Amino acid sequence: MTPTPRHPAFRSVPDAQWNDWRWQLRHRITKLEQLEAVVDLTEEERRGIVARRSEFSFAITPYYLSLFGGPDCPVRRQAVPHADEVRTTPEDLADPLAEDAHAPVAALTHRYPDRALLYVSHTCPVYCRHCTRQRKVGDARSAPSRDDLDDAFAYLEKTPAVRDVLVSGGDPLSLSDDRLVEIVARLRRIPSVEIIRLCTRNPVTLPQRITPELLDRLRAYHPIYVNTHFNHPKEGTAEAAAALERLADAGFVVGNQMVLLAGINDRPEVVEALGRFLLRHRARPYYMFQCDPVRGTAHLRTPVERGVEIVDALRGRVSGLAIPHFAVDLPGGGGKVTLVPDRQLARTGRVRVFRGAQGAAHRVADPEANASSGAEGGPEPTCSSVRTRTPPR
Ligand SMILES: *Cc1c(COP(=O)(O)O)cnc(C)c1O
Repeated sequence: MTPTPRHPAFRSVPDAQWNDWRWQLRHRITKLEQLEAVVDLTEEERRGIVARRSEFSFAITPYYLSLFGGPDCPVRRQAVPHADEVRTTPEDLADPLAEDAHAPVAALTHRYPDRALLYVSHTCPVYCRHCTRQRKVGDARSAPSRDDLDDAFAYLEKTPAVRDVLVSGGDPLSLSDDRLVEIVARLRRIPSVEIIRLCTRNPVTLPQRITPELLDRLRAYHPIYVNTHFNHPKEGTAEAAAALERLADAGFVVGNQMVLLAGINDRPEVVEALGRFLLRHRARPYYMFQCDPVRGTAHLRTPVERGVEIVDALRGRVSGLAIPHFAVDLPGGGGKVTLVPDRQLARTGRVRVFRGAQGAAHRVADPEANASSGAEGGPEPTCSSVRTRTPPR
């Protein structure tokens, strides 16, 4: 794959600087005047930038900016504010997933018995316009303090049911290598923590951040999974592919969590192309999320049905490895629900009829003997009831 052609404004930057994540971060575009100088903004974008300045501003790395096309570009629409962001709907919520309500300590949300979500930073290289945490992300002053993190580690120590810690933010890779490694090492010292997940969009917005040095240090604390967030095959550049390959080579298991966005990626062909890119570079599509009803995203949200239709269109046509789970994270903190296309056309007794991959109807019958055993035959033997019948040692 050939390197991403740079935006003309950055063509004279020496490769060594362009490929240095610190240079990319230092040269982020965060002001209207800067963006205007390099992108021919629409009136709606300009108005969006001004309106959102104080509540959820924007930031764009020179690398991510180089992927921009016109105003409808799926990359540009994820990063540049739009006048539609000031629209509110009755469904909108500031904290749609009630993450703050389910936070036993400030830096941690604990919703499921065995997993917890730890916030380690509130900054990101690029602020996604659909961010579910825009209530706090981007505001460096709200970033968890060392004391907050100590409280979270203490909570995990006295809550051994948590075996899986998602390290999120903001983006944990916004921290220095030293600080991130320190946090991961601290989690590893908690015996009940079995796996660590790093939730980062850096492979997409700042792939230069995925350095061999960082991975070399982190890999000492495996098993570490990486949840990343590609939304469109246009983000599948040579640089992003190389970042995914470095992660896989260093033993990280990479899964992708895309968010369905209206007019950006809400077509089966787009999800298919993205899935194929990910698989070629040893990352698995994991979730395709319904966009959360966070304020400022009404214009980006799709009907729930769209996600079901996309999964239905892919099933049978595309490698099963390329098909993500379609999930709705329930507003109010009910947790994730996955939806699958309903391909059962009819059911009579023990016979079900399904619509197959080619559209034809196919019969599946439950076994005759077992069909009613659950209801009439009393409890079925289970492994534990079998074990009670074995003689004691
Ligand atoms: C999504 C989420 C998780 C992880 O869920 P998985 O389905 O295991 O990926 C854990 N905690 C919270 C609060 C979440 O929102």
